[in-house]
Amino acid sequence: MSEQCKCPMCNSNAWLDVDISAASKFYSCPVCGRIDLQLNLDTRIDEVQFDRNHLAAFLVYNGYKNELAFYTNRSKEWVDKVKEEFHKGNREHGLPVYLDNETVENWYPKTFAEKIDRILLYFGDHIKHVGESLTLKKEELYSVLFVDRFDYDQFGKPVERGNGALKSQADFMLNYLKDQSYIKSLTSASWWNTSGDEINLQVLPTCYARIDLLQKNNTHGKDVFVAMKFGDDTTKLREAIHKGIKNAGYKPILIDEVEHNEFIIPELLKHIKDSKFVVVDLTHQNNGAYFEEGYAMGLGKPVIQLCKSTTKLHFDVAQKNTIMWKTEEDIPERLEKRIKATID
Ligand SMILES: [Zn+2]
Repeated sequence: MSEQCKCPMCNSNAWLDVDISAASKFYSCPVCGRIDLQLNLDTRIDEVQFDRNHLAAFLVYNGYKNELAFYTNRSKEWVDKVKEEFHKGNREHGLPVYLDNETVENWYPKTFAEKIDRILLYFGDHIKHVGESLTLKKEELYSVLFVDRFDYDQFGKPVERGNGALKSQADFMLNYLKDQSYIKSLTSASWWNTSGDEINLQVLPTCYARIDLLQKNNTHGKDVFVAMKFGDDTTKLREAIHKGIKNAGYKPILIDEVEHNEFIIPELLKHIKDSKFVVVDLTHQNNGAYFEEGYAMGLGKPVIQLCKSTTKLHFDVAQKNTIMWKTEEDIPERLEKRIKATID
């Protein structure tokens, strides 16, 4: 049974499904997306596992809104079980994706400049056509602008901050963005409409220029998307590529085969967009890998190609300088060197 509720993260009107037998509270929020998080909302931060200020921001940027997936912090065993059910056809809420505090904290911007860049990218993603305005409701805006909704008292218990404090923090960010000529308000006098619950803004050319630059270089990014065939026969290859990228100081993003099949093309493309460069192994002539390489090249991302020396490369990509490997043991060192020579 679905009932209307307020989202515990952002206070939007949301839907709640309670399944008492499974001790489950499943929320669908227009801002935070689909979540089944075990939160003890009144207790100390170490007991709730998340910094709720950071969690709200994480969810507005990464939440599952339309895709058939949801975040959960239940045990990994539970996630595996439900994943299995999902593949058998029991798709009640969709595919669970495990979320813990570490993931949220790794994602959360470490600097003010990094926050600003994320905000600009968010605006860019949410405007369909250049020049159109963007309306954001208060709940969404606070999460997008990294506004802290809670203070933590000396016992680590979250204490809600007043609406005035939230608004002035949001105004500070908006005014900064305006001073940098990134945005302008379409509501005269202040940022807010008369009822004070939404803003209407326009993104200016300076903002688009910055977005273009960020998407090309992803200046803060250490993510590297790996395109290859995933399967039991490629475990060694996967580990070798993983090692080479890590040793060069980057973070490999490997989306396993199951996820490739079940979802989520937009998700996948977003990973490529957010990567600094892409590593592709063409040994298995895998269509997905060719597609992902092409997409990355279209975005102007550097691509490093690998291929087993016994495989003949498709003529389109054969021109490109490729690491031709004989055994998987060759890969880590050669890949690391190539990254250092061509990317750093
Ligand atoms: Zn929410």
